[in-house]
Amino acid sequence: MKHLDGKKIFVTGGAGFIGSHLCKSLSSSTRKLTVYDNLSSGKVENVKHLPNVHFVRGDILDLKKLQSQDKADLIFHLAAQVVVPYSMENPIIDFETNARGTLNILEKARKDDAYLIFASSAAVYGNPIELPTSEEYGFHPFSCYGLSKVVGEQYCEMYSKQYGLDVAIMRFANVIGPGCHGVIHDFLEKIDKNPDKLEIIGTGLQSRDFVHVSDVIKALILSTIGKKAIGKTYNLGYGKTTKIIDLAKMIIDLLNLTSKTAITTTNVSWHGDVDTIWFNISKAKKDLNWIPKITLEDSVREIIRNWRQER
Ligand code: NAD
Repeated sequence: MKHLDGKKIFVTGGAGFIGSHLCKSLSSSTRKLTVYDNLSSGKVENVKHLPNVHFVRGDILDLKKLQSQDKADLIFHLAAQVVVPYSMENPIIDFETNARGTLNILEKARKDDAYLIFASSAAVYGNPIELPTSEEYGFHPFSCYGLSKVVGEQYCEMYSKQYGLDVAIMRFANVIGPGCHGVIHDFLEKIDKNPDKLEIIGTGLQSRDFVHVSDVIKALILSTIGKKAIGKTYNLGYGKTTKIIDLAKMIIDLLNLTSKTAITTTNVSWHGDVDTIWFNISKAKKDLNWIPKITLEDSVREIIRNWRQER
């Protein structure tokens, strides 16, 4: 990562799941890495041991504080309200954080003349008819979270077109790995409480594209080399889709509970839940020379190992 030598890097949401993995990767390559996070879900312990990290407890809604930070050359904007059901219950808070918060970061990037990499989501596609879904499918959000990410993306495009700001948009599928939240973690918690039964919210037939966090970080770093990602939007997934019921069976097998744990479903899911996420990743493969390597099964094994150690 020689190209990042001497660059001043600013990571919002750096104390969260993906952000802390990114900071771990960046911290050895740069001496100037600022993590800006309000710790609403992130933990300072995730980054405080890393070399060269300057941690600032701050909110992306606090424009004054943002503007008072040192000038950055490169900004990764990951801070967000990330929970879909929460966005349906609290659409205004979700909008504030994800839409206005992103606009504030764009203002910082404009003032600093920095390159901004924005973490967007599969949620901008909603329930896509085109599967696997390519970047060109367009916006069809199905949740308030998806819509607030669309607004963030559109402001990024506006700043790119009107102010000539260097921006890249990275749409993540379901990112998994050590420290992840979401369905795998929820299943492990449920089985831990009661190994006889695993209840899936929804039909279990909904499916997701799971990509390992280290593969996502590789793509984020690749997008900082040269100018190839500037002005572009990329899907970052594994390029496969797995039904949640099959994921549940995989976890039960890997825990050696096949003859013990019965799977049940609630049939009805939460507001804003989508049926299928399955990314076409050929654009990132071609432009960024990126290939996600870690399979779902290997990821699940690692998450189980990590989860056992942390208990
Ligand atoms: P996370 O909740 O672990 O991390 C988000 C971080 O942002 C946390 O550390 C939190 O404290 C911080 N934060 C929240 N609101 C803030 C605010 N107002 N000001 C400052 N900091 C704030 O989530 P994550 O899974 O690491 O997600 C990172 C990014 O990737 C998000 O933008 C999310 O929308 C996007 N994304 C994640 C996934 C996934 O599968 N994890 C999928 C698609 C997109």
